[in-house]
Amino acid sequence: MVIVIKPGTQQQHMDDIVRLLESKGLKVHLSVGESRTIIGVIGDKSVLSGVNIGLLPGVEKIVPITENYKLASKAFRPEGSVVKVGGRSVGGREFAMIAGPCAVESREQIFEAARIARAGGAQFLRGGAYKPRTSPYAFQGLEKEGLKLLREAASEYGLLTVSELVSESLIDEAAAYLDVIQIGARNAQNFRLLKETGRSGIPVLLKRGIAETIDEWLASAEYIMSEGNYNIILCERGIRTFETATRNTLDISAIAVVKEKSHLPLIIDPSHAAGKAAYIPSLSRAAVAAGADGLMIEVHPNPKAALSDASQQLGEEEFLSLCRDIAKFAAASGREYDLFEGNGGGKC
Ligand code: PEP
Ligand code: MN
Repeated sequence: MVIVIKPGTQQQHMDDIVRLLESKGLKVHLSVGESRTIIGVIGDKSVLSGVNIGLLPGVEKIVPITENYKLASKAFRPEGSVVKVGGRSVGGREFAMIAGPCAVESREQIFEAARIARAGGAQFLRGGAYKPRTSPYAFQGLEKEGLKLLREAASEYGLLTVSELVSESLIDEAAAYLDVIQIGARNAQNFRLLKETGRSGIPVLLKRGIAETIDEWLASAEYIMSEGNYNIILCERGIRTFETATRNTLDISAIAVVKEKSHLPLIIDPSHAAGKAAYIPSLSRAAVAAGADGLMIEVHPNPKAALSDASQQLGEEEFLSLCRDIAKFAAASGREYDLFEGNGGGKC
């Protein structure tokens, strides 16, 4: 359940409520919004039999939550969450762009990708270092060296880093290189990894599992949040359906559903959904129009030579043209998105 606190309630009354809940062995999570404080209560509520929480000073109402997720539910933070990463934020007015290659392949490649990402107005540089490939014989990523190169390239161009970790054992050594930990579609229900990522406190980009329902996906987010890490950005990347024309089916409806059910920011990854560069501009425009908070786009200085996902990565011209479109669609949707093109870096 969540307990909605009346505006203007004295701190002492808040503390009394929290103390009472904790004394009963319940876990308490606070959401302090601009206009309201909400207390998320986790645990077996039967310990509260005989206690009428609704009558305690400061309590406005109690909202029972029957879903598998509580902290990820809209009721916990009705005004919506803005995830702060470095000096940037995801979920606010600024439209987020995460761009970069499928995998970090070399110093030259990731620095070039960073330059292109920056020119297009991206705030984040992505690049896989631990690649979850279908075949064990396919390129597996540069691992720690890849993370180092990603960080160096991002710093050079004033970008923040996002990269996937495939095991909880990597979190400690990766922490220095990552602003955002990506949990990939294949690990979206790796509960141990989710919990440890939650304990790390590092912002998380949580992809939707390949065959995960929206409820299951939000429950995955709950695993992270229940460990005290509320900095989660959801990422829809297409789900597996009977359709084979695209690599996965981009579930645009997920934007409407997630915005109704959860307060977490949501971005769209049309690259892994479509699997084909030509489809990405159209899916990206749809995502902005439907209310997504950002995009993740695979960008490579020479897509044809990419060591993974060659068919879906955009080259420089394609990416910049996409970004010009996104700036217009973002403005029409009440968002801000600025390109940073040209050698001098003038905004347009
Ligand atoms: C990726 O973004 O590098 C990736 C592997 O995506 P997904 O987990 O969505 O397949
Ligand atoms: Mn990829």
